[in-house]
Amino acid sequence: MEKAYKLLINGRLVDGAATMPVINPATGEPFVDAPRADIGQLNEAVAAAKSAFPEWSKRPITERRELLIALSNALEERVPEFAALLTREQGKPLAQATMECMGCVFVIRGMASFDLSPKVLREDESMRAIEYRSPLGVVAAITPWNFPLILLINKVAPALLAGNTLVIKPAPTTPLTTLLLGEIFASLFPRGVINVIADQNDLGAALTHHPDIAKIAFTGSTATGRKVMSAAAGTIKRVTLELGGNDAALVLEDADLQETARKVFDGAMLNAGQICIAIKRVYVHESMYDAFCDELARLANDLVVGDGSELATQLGPIQNKAQYEKLQQLLDDARENGTVIAGGNVLSRPGYFIAPTIVRDVDDDALIVREEQFGPILPVLKYTDINGAIERINNSEYGLGGTVWGRDVSKAASIAERVNSGTVWVNKHMDIAADLPFRGAKQSGLGAELGLAGLEEYTQARVINVALTGC
Ligand code: NAD
Repeated sequence: MEKAYKLLINGRLVDGAATMPVINPATGEPFVDAPRADIGQLNEAVAAAKSAFPEWSKRPITERRELLIALSNALEERVPEFAALLTREQGKPLAQATMECMGCVFVIRGMASFDLSPKVLREDESMRAIEYRSPLGVVAAITPWNFPLILLINKVAPALLAGNTLVIKPAPTTPLTTLLLGEIFASLFPRGVINVIADQNDLGAALTHHPDIAKIAFTGSTATGRKVMSAAAGTIKRVTLELGGNDAALVLEDADLQETARKVFDGAMLNAGQICIAIKRVYVHESMYDAFCDELARLANDLVVGDGSELATQLGPIQNKAQYEKLQQLLDDARENGTVIAGGNVLSRPGYFIAPTIVRDVDDDALIVREEQFGPILPVLKYTDINGAIERINNSEYGLGGTVWGRDVSKAASIAERVNSGTVWVNKHMDIAADLPFRGAKQSGLGAELGLAGLEEYTQARVINVALTGC
């Protein structure tokens, strides 16, 4: 019999007001029912977080840090269980699911090592100005379906360390690992400090408009991010928005063809391309364009596609039917506006599988280039002049990440400085860590996640400015 999943409200693991089926994307079939909260349960969760805040926020940071370390240890002990469930609800290959779970352990420990000591801003014989950081109150943490665990932990760890309480809401198609984490939260944290609800895409607006929410930490699409930002306006809630991206890889003339093609390919296909910072378009110098395309096509044809729970699988299914259908439209566009040299089709088997696809000879204004595809489809574009390539790369409403590849590292690094994105990697990709802030430029987001800057997003800065002479 399948395990029963519960919401976590005010320290109690409870049934939802209703249930909703969760589908395994590798089969297209539901395999378990998850609890679904109603508006009454959402309000109870916010009220519980609000009443837990005064006591939790007054605890010394050392105590909150100890509880975070306990959380990382408890999660580490159960990584195989969490990883198997993550593969089942999200679809990613088990090795990638395990990496995501271990990433959570490291992020919790990394964030726990930060401090929020008062900072002396200026001090002399006549005055002393000190900046203090205090928690905000109740944080709503809202996550998408591509990395349900790590994107949640990126929010939970700094929010708790800073002394906030939380109401968490996962995406409707991947609620299970978050609900399972709720069992660990229930066993470690005081009542009401962390609450977990789940919905069917119907409670986000109520949560983000709720007057008792002080901050919204949101990861998801730019379209929903706009709604979150306007919901925050009512009570001037703090927001962190980690939104969509259309990251480009720029392959310079002197790049090593084989090695770069392999790394660019991996950066495009990991998690079936369903990563905000996946490589979503690649610009290759004309001198190696044909050979680079051929190498990408070879890698695509060699990739083992299948159920993520099978050990040989390198590329799993698309996480949900809506995204699978959207990708089929993009495949149609790719066939019309480019030359498909690998893949280009859905697999004729149950589940939401798309063959890894490489498209060449495609224009900048094709849908597959302009839109965030969020799937295993990589358009390859030719350039002759570096200034033109950078202009084309920056000509996007997004600015999340990006990569530059070349043997001359200082030249590649100086070109990276011209890419208008929150993070640009040179000769590597997806190096995200607890001590490095991650943020989007333009419509890819607002505010930082991770790093000290990410932690400070969960605090209110207050400056106490004292005259030391006279009164
Ligand atoms: P989505 O915007 O559809 O949903 C994200 C979350 O928002 C879900 O939990 C959803 O239930 C909730 N939601 C829906 N309506 C809401 C509303 N009105 N108010 C508040 N919350 C609401 O995104 P998705 O399809 O689940 O995820 C894919 C998107 O996420 C892609 O665009 C991807 O680039 C982006 N993403 C960004 C990052 C980043 O760090 N920048 C990381 C991962 C994914």
